Amino acid sequence: MNVLLLGSGGREHALAWRLSQSPGLTKLWAAPGNPGIAAHAECVAIDPMDQRAVIDFCLRNSVGFVVVGPESPLVAGLADNLRTMGIATFGPGRAAARLEGSKGFTKDLCRRENIPTAGYARVSSRDGAEAALPDFGLPVVIKADGLAAGKGVVIAYTHEEARAACAALFERPGGEAVIEEFLTGEEASLFVLTDGEAIVPFGSAQDHKRVGEGDTGPNTGGMGAYSPAFVLTETLEKRAIDEIVRPTVEALARAGTPYSGVLYAGLILTNTGPKLIEYNCRFGDPECQVLMARFEGDLLDWLLATAEGRLGAMGTPAFADDPALTVVMAAKGYPGTPVAGGAIRGLEAAEAAGTRVFQAGTRREGDALVAAGGRVLAVTASGSDLAAAQANAYRGVDAIDFADGFCRRDIGARATEAMPA
Ligand code: ATP
Repeated sequence: MNVLLLGSGGREHALAWRLSQSPGLTKLWAAPGNPGIAAHAECVAIDPMDQRAVIDFCLRNSVGFVVVGPESPLVAGLADNLRTMGIATFGPGRAAARLEGSKGFTKDLCRRENIPTAGYARVSSRDGAEAALPDFGLPVVIKADGLAAGKGVVIAYTHEEARAACAALFERPGGEAVIEEFLTGEEASLFVLTDGEAIVPFGSAQDHKRVGEGDTGPNTGGMGAYSPAFVLTETLEKRAIDEIVRPTVEALARAGTPYSGVLYAGLILTNTGPKLIEYNCRFGDPECQVLMARFEGDLLDWLLATAEGRLGAMGTPAFADDPALTVVMAAKGYPGTPVAGGAIRGLEAAEAAGTRVFQAGTRREGDALVAAGGRVLAVTASGSDLAAAQANAYRGVDAIDFADGFCRRDIGARATEAMPA
């Protein structure tokens, strides 16, 4: 089968690596891909948001299956248009992708279906927001409704901060926002594959969103992750599926907009049980890198079964027991303006040390590899326990020469410290 993978991040590098091992694969393309992905796929210069170009490419090259990495093309309805053209697609259609595309949509669905989540109010003006704020304690969470790449959320600790956040959100008219009760507990990410009917757990992870060690500084796309999420015990995972994921999948099916793809539930494990913070309609980045490090099956088969509605007959996916951990190396300046063009050397040495280096913002300049984005590499390793995976990953990091880059040295530290020796 000819497959087109859309995206250019570390997530897509990890997917390309696993897809390239599938016996059913004839040819893999990636659009636009990156130099790391180019080791597994032929990269083509197509913007995943250019739906016409994607569809034309598929028709001209007999692509039978498209795997969509990032959320934006899904929220824009690419999967619907590919399916209309008879091309199987991994990822939900526009209506179901609203789970990620609109926080208000998801909160209303949770309320209707009695799904545990933070109390909330939807507001569409600064006055409406100010009127709603007194109903919430402090801290309070204020979120832009649409896609904001992790930058649309403010946790306000004082009334002044809350009012300032609302004022900033509604600086331009026409916006929508959600005000939420602040929840306390460990965060964990749960991944399931679903074809709209069957629901198959597909691993868990915890990530580190803040740029600085000790979880300080501004939010980023993610500075590191590990899998599994040890805090998400089997009992809690089952509760999350029964109380959160299944009612969501059933509600969308009943509405005539069944969800097909990977559903990523961002959870807070409160002392009354798991509560939903957010849904994403794609794999996480860098969570995908650690999931793929542990995944042991035929990825193409699983993703295609999801797209073709055959998940119910697939059984249980195999994941290695050994945990995996990934450390993101970013260009200095990130998450502000990253330094571009910094030379990267030593990837072979890192791989020789037993790590797998997934590339994100990289570019080839002649024979050299240079930085071309905020998050540049995801250095990933497994180990017999999390501490071993962590030591292995940092051995890889230390083998890499990237003077204009930086990473957090404490990925996984909170979990390894919490674990019995
Ligand atoms: P992402 O980049 O993770 O997709 P996003 O913009 O969709 O981010 P959320 O995931 O809803 O936003 O929130 C970002 C972070 O803010 C969460 O990971 C969590 O740490 C914190 N947060 C969000 N909602 C709450 C809440 N109700 N209570 C406590 N913390 C919250």
